[in-house]
Amino acid sequence: MLDTAKQGTATATVESIRGYPAGHAVAPNVSDYAAFRAAFSWEFARRDLDGLPAGGLNIAHEAVDRHAAGARANKVALRWLGRNSAVQDYSYARLRRLSNRFANVLKGLGVGAGERVFILTGRVPELYIAALGALKNRSVVCTLFSAFGPEPIRARMAHGDARILISTPILYRRKIVPILGMLPGLRHVLLVAGPDDEAGPPGTLDFAKLLAAADENFSIEATDPEAPALLHFTSGTTGTPKGAVHVHQAVLTHHATGKLVLDLHPEDVFWCTADPGWVTGTSYGIIAPLSNGVTSIVDEADFDAERWYRILEEHKVSVWYTAPTAIRMMMKAGLAPLAGRKLPALRYLASVGEPLNPEAVRWGVTAFGLPFHDNWWQTETGGIMIANFAALDVRPGSMGMLVPGIEAAIVRVRSNDGAEAKVTVIEEPGVEGELALRAGWPSMFRDYLNEPERYRECFAGGWYLSGDLARRDADGYFWFIGRKDDVIKTSGHLIGPFEVESVLMEHPAVAEAGVIGKPDPVALEVVKAFVALRTGYTPSEALRKDILAHARKRLGAVAAPKEIDFQQCLPKTRSGKIMRRILRAQEMHLPEGDISTLESA
Ligand code: ATP
Ligand code: MG
Repeated sequence: MLDTAKQGTATATVESIRGYPAGHAVAPNVSDYAAFRAAFSWEFARRDLDGLPAGGLNIAHEAVDRHAAGARANKVALRWLGRNSAVQDYSYARLRRLSNRFANVLKGLGVGAGERVFILTGRVPELYIAALGALKNRSVVCTLFSAFGPEPIRARMAHGDARILISTPILYRRKIVPILGMLPGLRHVLLVAGPDDEAGPPGTLDFAKLLAAADENFSIEATDPEAPALLHFTSGTTGTPKGAVHVHQAVLTHHATGKLVLDLHPEDVFWCTADPGWVTGTSYGIIAPLSNGVTSIVDEADFDAERWYRILEEHKVSVWYTAPTAIRMMMKAGLAPLAGRKLPALRYLASVGEPLNPEAVRWGVTAFGLPFHDNWWQTETGGIMIANFAALDVRPGSMGMLVPGIEAAIVRVRSNDGAEAKVTVIEEPGVEGELALRAGWPSMFRDYLNEPERYRECFAGGWYLSGDLARRDADGYFWFIGRKDDVIKTSGHLIGPFEVESVLMEHPAVAEAGVIGKPDPVALEVVKAFVALRTGYTPSEALRKDILAHARKRLGAVAAPKEIDFQQCLPKTRSGKIMRRILRAQEMHLPEGDISTLESA
């Protein structure tokens, strides 16, 4: 068990938890955060990478080929766990050959540099082979989440002008056939057939046959570090998803944050639970672990607490990167599924995607003897920007400190009638404002595809404006307040939903909480909470009063919810984020807007 302590700081008394087991045999990559940050530069980080023999920088070369050419050639790069009990290992050398073959397949089909390769397969090995092969061919990879229905798939493929699609027979029949006539730019569909699948439908090609017939040698042509590599759609939490474009140079951020934040060491077995349909699943489910030369676990199946703990134990996972929703689901399931499991290899836990409630950080210590290290980033940032580091104490509820090489500020933004907004940096610690990043880090998105105006509006005065509200304490830790759109204005106060939700989560009956501002004639808005209960609790008036009383005691009368509704589960994006705008729309009987990423849509 790690020691937790209340520590006095310059700002206030805050809880802190040791970030890394004392005296652990594996020393963290960053042992002195302040010194490391002061000495860091992206030029310095670039030295960890290879660069292409033909010139420039290519993600797939850094992720696979350079390891395949060296001492790690026979090391397991990807270990794929099938939905049933199948396990397949792919060494770096094998991954090189297979991705070379796929690059040749693309070339043979006339798919060129800059053209978009869409992948809709679920988490199967071919997804990884196709993505890496497409990067070698300098095509742009866009992975889609396989649970999307036909319309969200159509919208994204049309928006991204998909040239080629890799899919499976079942997904093709269910989701692509209905929209095929609406994708005039699509030239080829390649299907990854399972052993029981019949011959592919007319008009499709067989992925495996093409791969088998292709040459296993491929020389990556000179790749401009600024050439587009990845297209990622945002989660759609606040509105219509945007298509963020990332370039090959982003690999610098992926590699550096894999090493410095996720603390990847060559011997690690790493498991990122995110689907590559979301940016976390490519940046940290493909690129960062491979570029760092570790063994990366890919699980085909969806969340299941028992299965997950078995994977951690059987495959000796040492670094585990997951998300608050999954952690909350594990908390909901209780500790029973963990009983009897031995996880001596587990060394480092991290989380991203949503604010991580302090309760969840503490639960990590109870369940695994290790805290979850929260970190913050967005589809647009391409990689982790703010993080709790191994060498630093974790402050539960805080997103952590700046990644070396990243400059950020809390700013006030005044819009300026059509002209660029005016940005004022708030120097004073503890003051809330918009979180802004100094533009120009390697994995910064270079465009919102087909929406240049929307892209331009994200920048002002050399800053990228994140749309999130936060504060920074005197020690440099960042604290998330809420999204700009979600902040509640009540009786002259601004209240971030995260703080209220975290307090609700402290109540033993509460598994999940979503908080919104409900219009009110007197207070402008009042705080309203939606709550899902843990297994074993049922909604009742007495429970409602008890939760309200707890919130009032902890938050005071202004910030405490005035109303609580019980729900079976809260509306979430398919990537697991609570969609407060849906709660708001339902509460006010308004249209729900874009629901393409809603879990049940
Ligand atoms: P859209 O932009 O389409 O509304 P989205 O913002 O949810 O969707 P993503 O890029 O997947 O799409 O998510 C980034 C956002 O997720 C951040 O801006 C922030 O609001 C939230 N987020 C991610 N990590 C954290 C974290 N550690 N703490 C708090 N919020 C986080
Ligand atoms: Mg966003």
